[in-house]
Amino acid sequence: MTLQLSEVHKFRGSEVNFAYLVPSGGIVALDGISSAILNCLERTPLSRESLIEELVAEGHQQQEIEESIDELQDVRAIQMGERVYEPSQALPDDFPLQSIVLNVTNQCNLSCQYCYEFGEDKIATPEGKKKFMDLDTAQASVDYLFAESQGRPSVHLTFFGGETLMNFPLMKQVVTYARQRAAELGRSIEFSLTTNATLLSSTIIEFLAEHGIGVTVSMDGPKEMQDKFRIFANGKGSYDIMKPKVEELIAKHRQRPVGARVTLTSGAMDVKRIYQHLKHELGFHEVAFAPVTTSPDRLYSIGEPGMDSVLAQFCDLADEYLEFALRGEHHGFSNVSDTLAELHQGVNKSLPCGAGLGMVGIGPSGDIAPCHRFVDSDEHVLGNITTGIDQEKRADFLGRGNIDTKYDCHTCWARPLCAGGCHHEAFVRYGDTGHANLHYCDWIRSWTNKCLEIYGTIAEKNPMFLQHFAERKAA
Ligand code: SF4
Ligand code: SF4
Repeated sequence: MTLQLSEVHKFRGSEVNFAYLVPSGGIVALDGISSAILNCLERTPLSRESLIEELVAEGHQQQEIEESIDELQDVRAIQMGERVYEPSQALPDDFPLQSIVLNVTNQCNLSCQYCYEFGEDKIATPEGKKKFMDLDTAQASVDYLFAESQGRPSVHLTFFGGETLMNFPLMKQVVTYARQRAAELGRSIEFSLTTNATLLSSTIIEFLAEHGIGVTVSMDGPKEMQDKFRIFANGKGSYDIMKPKVEELIAKHRQRPVGARVTLTSGAMDVKRIYQHLKHELGFHEVAFAPVTTSPDRLYSIGEPGMDSVLAQFCDLADEYLEFALRGEHHGFSNVSDTLAELHQGVNKSLPCGAGLGMVGIGPSGDIAPCHRFVDSDEHVLGNITTGIDQEKRADFLGRGNIDTKYDCHTCWARPLCAGGCHHEAFVRYGDTGHANLHYCDWIRSWTNKCLEIYGTIAEKNPMFLQHFAERKAA
């Protein structure tokens, strides 16, 4: 029997080589002898004796070689015999809910052309359904969250839309009701809100601050970029309306960090300029970027050359993140911090996200969807808040989205983090939530590799910085 390289992705930090262990999602630093072993086995499988012989001939000590081989076998960086795809860990059928996204309205006061809810690629079928969630449905949703999350001391509720603040009165009632239920049950609940910020008022900001509600503002950058697609129905841009409101929000809401979420489109993909504006000129704590989810032929689609440019800019901003991290300072590029957190926690996903598993979206009608992006889509409804989830439909959604069924991904080293990518994007692109998002594999692998290099460099030079990713998990 020969020793073989297991599924590892080698990368380099600053001065140290590392291996990303694909079947487990772990990372190990490689010393000279372990690097030499991996390099030998990368060239060809060898018997233990031949491997030792070859490395002794290169000048390594036999005892050190033997110890390193054992260690590398223990962490499964190398293995005896053929490499085979290891199925992901089976998830329990009664996986408890962790969070719900409450789409309190499917109405919006903006008409962003690229919107997945209202734009050309929309999958929602809201015709004839309630436009605003009522209190009974919202309370039933809160009850459902508590009932289906047994064993979890703390749960999470995200307010979403449409434009969420168009139903602010309901939001206030839900916070009061959910807090009261949590107290009765001896549990806790956290809230967050996603908004376009155009309807914020001093009263609303005070409410958000008083209740410690986390806020994410959807915003695409400085005026010329924000006003490209984030417009009112009359075509007027939204920047001038939202800017003072965002500034007031950031100034007054000190309880939780306020973040921005940017949709990158053909009209707004100057990543560094957007980051500079949102982080340093407006004062957001963190900025997350996501390329628009769309068919490739849309006007606002970024296209392949655009994605290359986005990647290059992400890498530059990631280098800036690294400089900050090495000084022990916070940097607000959350695409890096989110990936570093997953790497540090050894995440190894069988599903790309919690949709339909630990999280569901609930629409104004009370229909339950895998996540907020599927709300009001008849094709994807999993159940209703009055009757609960249809477990067959849920199992079908989760089964098709599982990495085990995505054969293209079985030889991909990035699968512990990617797991085939967003179910919603897969549906928009391929008409199947379970299809791997193969249009961005090279991009994902390049970006993941960059994050690994940053992780390795921080691990070498300022390991204490990584501690807060462990704390983030515990929180
Ligand atoms: S979608 Fe592509 S990058 Fe993601 S796991 Fe599958 S093959 Fe890898
Ligand atoms: S399916 Fe896509 S949009 Fe929905 S939660 Fe998962 S990653 Fe997010």
